[in-house]
Amino acid sequence: MSGPVISPSRGSASWPSADTGLCGVIGHPVRHSLSPRLHQAAYRALGVDWAYLAFDVAPASFAAAVEGARALGLVGLSVTMPHKDAAAHLATRRSATVLRLGAANTLTFSGRQISAESTDGEALIEDLRSSGPFDPSGKTCAVIGAGGAARAAILALADAGASEVLVVNRTAARAYRAAQLAGARGRVAKAEELEGVELIVNATPVGMQADGAREPGADEPVVDSSRFAAGQLVVDMVYDPPVTEWRALAEASGARTRNGLGMLVHQAARQVEIWTGTRAPLPEMWRAVGRRPATGS
Ligand code: NAP
Repeated sequence: MSGPVISPSRGSASWPSADTGLCGVIGHPVRHSLSPRLHQAAYRALGVDWAYLAFDVAPASFAAAVEGARALGLVGLSVTMPHKDAAAHLATRRSATVLRLGAANTLTFSGRQISAESTDGEALIEDLRSSGPFDPSGKTCAVIGAGGAARAAILALADAGASEVLVVNRTAARAYRAAQLAGARGRVAKAEELEGVELIVNATPVGMQADGAREPGADEPVVDSSRFAAGQLVVDMVYDPPVTEWRALAEASGARTRNGLGMLVHQAARQVEIWTGTRAPLPEMWRAVGRRPATGS
């Protein structure tokens, strides 16, 4: 663990002190983020004297902000939309997963080095295994979307032994590139081909709580979730609102459904572990977002 260990008492006259370490999440927009709650709960439970803030930074200022964070001696940054590709690009060290994805959600600062990691994919698998419960090994899986989160899911499902990973996306060219992450088990599919697929993951922002005006048609899903059925597990990575219309239709069709809160908790837990070198306190992190693990979604 790289920071001093004490029990910070928020709001007390002695906290923060000149020793308090700083971490944060960088995104645009980022005001809706639950990451400060998750991380601060973890640091409190572990007795780590760190504060975690949200930084709303537009793409044009991202590189300057990261360089400033490094120069200021921040411990690390969680990276969210739309900066994940830029984070991978800026880093001086990239994990094998980041090299394959071309995207990162975790930056760790050490002297002049900026190390990039991606914890989204393993968080999805961890959430499926611990709370689903669902082991992707040998199962047919589908991912809707081809952005950063979708690519992380495709790679992680293939690495977890999925027998097939279908990719459905609005823009075909992006779908082809994303499907390649699953090697011979990945292929681009049409929405109608999802019948009978055991796991379906929505990695598009359709139905997400919007911070501002949305483009026309921004809430049109590419897959009709009312066609799903019993025997299928449907994960909607969106967690705000907890039940999107898309998820509600899937649930009504008889499929088991789950939102993205568990994935969010697990990706933050992995970041805590990378930065502190200590096992993350999952129960406290779940409580910080008002849920118990068993009913997390
Ligand atoms: P991204 O890189 O911007 O990719 C978005 C993807 O969604 C693209 O493939 C895009 O299709 C597709 N898309 C966007 N609007 C659409 C629409 N109206 N209809 C159909 N497809 C649409 O975003 P991201 O970083 O992958 O994030 C995607 C979602 O996952 C967001 O809601 C994010 O909050 C969520 N997420 C959740 C977690 C978690 O821990 N729960 C972690 C990461 C991300 P095109 O390729 O055609 O543009």
